[in-house]
Amino acid sequence: MIPMVDLKTQYHTLKAEIDSAVLDAIESTQFILGPNVTAFEQESASYLGVSHAVSCASGTDALHLAILAAGIGPGDEVITSPFTFIATAEAICYAGATPVFVDIDPQTFNIDPALIEKAITPRTRAIIPVHLFGQPADMLAISGICDRHGLLLIEDCAQSFGAKANNMMTGSLGMLGCFSFFPSKNLGCYGDGGMISCATQELADKIKVLRNHGSKVRYHHHLIGYNSRLDDIQAAILRVKLKRIDLFNAARRRVAHLYSDLLSDLVTVPFEDGKGTHVYHQYTLLTDRRDAVMARLSERQIASAVYYPIPLHKQEVFAEACGATCLPVAEEVASRCMSLPIFPEMSDEQVRLVAATVKEALVG
Ligand SMILES: *Cc1c(COP(=O)(O)O)cnc(C)c1O
Repeated sequence: MIPMVDLKTQYHTLKAEIDSAVLDAIESTQFILGPNVTAFEQESASYLGVSHAVSCASGTDALHLAILAAGIGPGDEVITSPFTFIATAEAICYAGATPVFVDIDPQTFNIDPALIEKAITPRTRAIIPVHLFGQPADMLAISGICDRHGLLLIEDCAQSFGAKANNMMTGSLGMLGCFSFFPSKNLGCYGDGGMISCATQELADKIKVLRNHGSKVRYHHHLIGYNSRLDDIQAAILRVKLKRIDLFNAARRRVAHLYSDLLSDLVTVPFEDGKGTHVYHQYTLLTDRRDAVMARLSERQIASAVYYPIPLHKQEVFAEACGATCLPVAEEVASRCMSLPIFPEMSDEQVRLVAATVKEALVG
């Protein structure tokens, strides 16, 4: 049995340190906005090379709070990718704004900068590129477009903790960067969690107020905020894992490169543009025979998954908003993509077994 992600093996290798960090956090009884939260935010900001990082309750909340802090609201349009997890677009809608989907690049699966300018209208306020599967979006091109058109740049880094674009960490290239610590993400906690990296103190202060009931001074509320905080226990776990994130990501890259060596003659393997570091949140390939490959893997007790089978402009929830919108690259990729198991602790033997099973399905 090979799962998509093996959280148990990782826990067992870190057990002593994690257990003691969790027990210390419990013993301190500072469960909400406690010392681990402050320390984790500082350690993350320094790792990412940003001036401030503010944690919150989930990656979805990170996007929502970032969009609110950017002052985006009803009547505004926000350009993003149709080939992402629904949360990217949900957060735009929570703020009362409208997501505008721009087709993706067929090699990186990230928003195609060459198509963005055609989608800009007088209502466009921001672009939210998603660093999908851990592959940085083309930030040089996208930030150029933002500068030319006076648009805000908010990064969805939920899948890209530790990925670099042009030698800078994702999350440090835009005005705001949104991270998720969902357990299976590259940096995951043991529940829900999220964080926003901020380019300015002012944005960080705004988000701190928004995540804590619109309050800076206890029981003084100057706006309607939210209850969206990272638990101190989760922050304690994240601090243990943050120290190892580069090792985890290097191990993911090793797995991915072995897969690509073994599979490049049989399927379209993930593309690396050389401008950044892909951290392989997912190892996603293209094949015309996805069903056959997935069926054979399943027979051999090997997990596989389709991220994502339906692009957002084709989702029922956006049927009215998107109508007959056709984004051919996203639709084609969604119909042919599939992801193989990948996690830092995966052995070469496991990778070879998965690759051999894919081969068996395709060439018999
Ligand atoms: C996981 C994910 C989110 C949402 O994060 P949660 O912590 O699950 O709320 C947002 N965007 C992308 C691209 C994601 O993969």
